[in-house]
Amino acid sequence: MLLKCINCSYTYDIDKIIYLCEKCNDLLEVVYDLDKIGNKLDSTWKNIPLSVWKYQPLLPIDTNIDRVTLSEGGTRLHRLNKFSSFINIKNLYVKNEGDNPTGSFKDRGMSITVTKAKSLGASIIACASTGNTSASLAAYGARGGMKRIVLIPTGKVAYGKLSQAMVCGAKVIQIESNFDKCLEVIMELSANFPDIYLVNSINPFRIEGQKTLAFEIIDQLGHVPDCIIVPIGNAGNISAIWKGMREFLELGLIDKLPRMIGVQAEGSSPVVSAFKAKKMEATKILKPDTIATAIRIGAPASSKKALRAIYDSKGYAERVSDKEILEGQMNLAKLEGIFVEPASASPIAALKKLIRKGIISSDDEVVCIATGNGLKDPDVVTNFLKKPLEVKADLTSIKNVIDDEME
Ligand SMILES: *Cc1c(COP(=O)(O)O)cnc(C)c1O
Ligand SMILES: [Zn+2]
Repeated sequence: MLLKCINCSYTYDIDKIIYLCEKCNDLLEVVYDLDKIGNKLDSTWKNIPLSVWKYQPLLPIDTNIDRVTLSEGGTRLHRLNKFSSFINIKNLYVKNEGDNPTGSFKDRGMSITVTKAKSLGASIIACASTGNTSASLAAYGARGGMKRIVLIPTGKVAYGKLSQAMVCGAKVIQIESNFDKCLEVIMELSANFPDIYLVNSINPFRIEGQKTLAFEIIDQLGHVPDCIIVPIGNAGNISAIWKGMREFLELGLIDKLPRMIGVQAEGSSPVVSAFKAKKMEATKILKPDTIATAIRIGAPASSKKALRAIYDSKGYAERVSDKEILEGQMNLAKLEGIFVEPASASPIAALKKLIRKGIISSDDEVVCIATGNGLKDPDVVTNFLKKPLEVKADLTSIKNVIDDEME
């Protein structure tokens, strides 16, 4: 097991604390000797209940290492009924990552990364965050007994997420700028002070935990779906799911690959622009803007990996407006009872356009990744909804209102 540069292929020891290639400054990824791993995946492995750690043979953490865990993964895969006929896709699923311990998929990678950090002797873990990474870092850092530092941008940060970080004892530092600047600063900080261990998704161990999303989808469906639609923020998650799929293919556990479709918000869509221009890397946007704060990122750190996932899988990238995001979020909740945060609704919001453009057909089996729980950021939708009705506490008035509303 090694760390390998995705550009120049230079390799590093798996225990070296390093976030970018020393030769060319590009992203790193964990590579395995899959032939050896294949032998470990006997039939008993199939019966272990779903969780991130079910896939330990495919994770960069040895069995003798103490895990920092809150039981992440094993999230529900819902088949949609009403929404799928509304949108005219026969086999449509939502993988609800809001089921994770802190309410987003970030917990998958955080468990692996904090476990690794602890085993390497790190005492301070730190990240830049739009909210969910900080919530996850704070919880896992608490679990692992480590000091935890979070840099967040000023302005719109969802209060649900911020409260999680603060309650779990992270030192929350607000920087007078946006997420991209926070990431720049925290990377410099960890480069200058080696005792600060960086857990943003340029850290390849984050991707390793997140790739279990792919494994779980295969395990839950029993086969490979035609396409997987993922919101893109810093671009780690779509890269992770694709890496997971490729590893399962190489191990002979599946015999085809899904198409990866990435979705961004209109005001924050550098990866979509790169895709439409057939480029291999995104160009930075200076002032990203969207109500979906989790994907309000102008310079996605893993854009190269994400674009490779999209091109190699013959996938696609699309943008959606804030209005479409809100509609998607409300329809999913109203028709299926699944309340996700705005960023997490972007794949659902993109479906109509993707069908109209012929990117997906109504016969395709589609899995949308709902990345985080709606309770993290309830204000965005409630601002668009009618206020609760106010009536006197007598039965006639109440009955009148009920009859009105039900019509
Ligand atoms: C982090 C996050 C994203 C974006 O994922 P990336 O890996 O940064 O592309 C999307 N939705 C939610 C809810 C998130 O927390
Ligand atoms: Zn390199």
